[in-house]
Amino acid sequence: MAKIIDGKAISQQIKDELKSYVEENDLGKKLCLAVVQAGEDPASKVYVNNKKKACEYIGIGSQSFELPEDTTQDELLSLIDRLNEDETVTGILVQLPLPGQIDEDTVIRRISPKKDVDGFHPMNVGALSIGEKGFVSCTPAGIIELLKRSDIEIEGKECVVVGRSNIVGKPMSMLMLRENATVTICHSRTRKLPEVCKRADILIVAIGKPKFIDHTYIKDGAVVIDVGIHRMENGKLCGDVDYEDVAPLCSAITPVPGGVGPMTIAMLMSNCVQADC
Ligand code: NDP
Repeated sequence: MAKIIDGKAISQQIKDELKSYVEENDLGKKLCLAVVQAGEDPASKVYVNNKKKACEYIGIGSQSFELPEDTTQDELLSLIDRLNEDETVTGILVQLPLPGQIDEDTVIRRISPKKDVDGFHPMNVGALSIGEKGFVSCTPAGIIELLKRSDIEIEGKECVVVGRSNIVGKPMSMLMLRENATVTICHSRTRKLPEVCKRADILIVAIGKPKFIDHTYIKDGAVVIDVGIHRMENGKLCGDVDYEDVAPLCSAITPVPGGVGPMTIAMLMSNCVQADC
């Protein structure tokens, strides 16, 4: 039977550790996350609210900036300039996606790398790739915590990452390399994907296609991490992995919901706490 990796419990454990750390080091008044949202995307509103609640839980400050849908790029950039300068703001997060008239890359580059708690700025991405200190993208950082706190050995293992996005696939691959796994990165042009995936001791899937990965992609005893999240017609959530079909073959697997999802916010809080260092 596959071990079910409980992301909800692990993320709660991390948030409780951070809460104690903030208390013990009297960081509550020193740390403040600025969350910026432009537009009315309902999912973004939920995410922004959850981030504010998480700040409250671990005992750090937060400020929110809700800008209208027709905000210009210059208006958003000048708000970021202001937050970069503001010494009471230690972390800045711009909720994506942004309205079409605003270029996301330009916005990400404008955030001071020292306050870029999402870890998306090219300076932080570069730091990760050369093994220097910096903020790491939250979802991949959360997956490393899930593996470590579930006592899953990474060093020397064959790891296949499916997906090469800047926010998940690429940083995930760099982190697994940093943990001394042997890493293969796959994408939409990869040939014989099932064969490549079947080599994996640890298979990490972030492709954005519901239930795409079935048992034909899985080696017996593999650890499977499912980053995908989709709402099905019946209202239930599912991942990029066909959980029922794959779980019997795995030694460990993340469920959706309750696997990778809750870790993203826990690692955001971890980055916010590190913003003091
Ligand atoms: P993107 O759409 O940015 O990237 C998808 C990647 O998958 C691309 O590299 C693409 O390849 C690759 N891909 C697409 N189709 C295939 C295929 N048939 N075979 C192999 N590779 C394929 O997605 P994200 O990385 O942003 O997100 C992936 C999933 O993870 C989504 O479901 C998203 O909702 C979820 N997610 C969940 C988070 C969480 O907190 N749980 C956080 C972030 C994302 P190519 O580059 O060639 O186009």
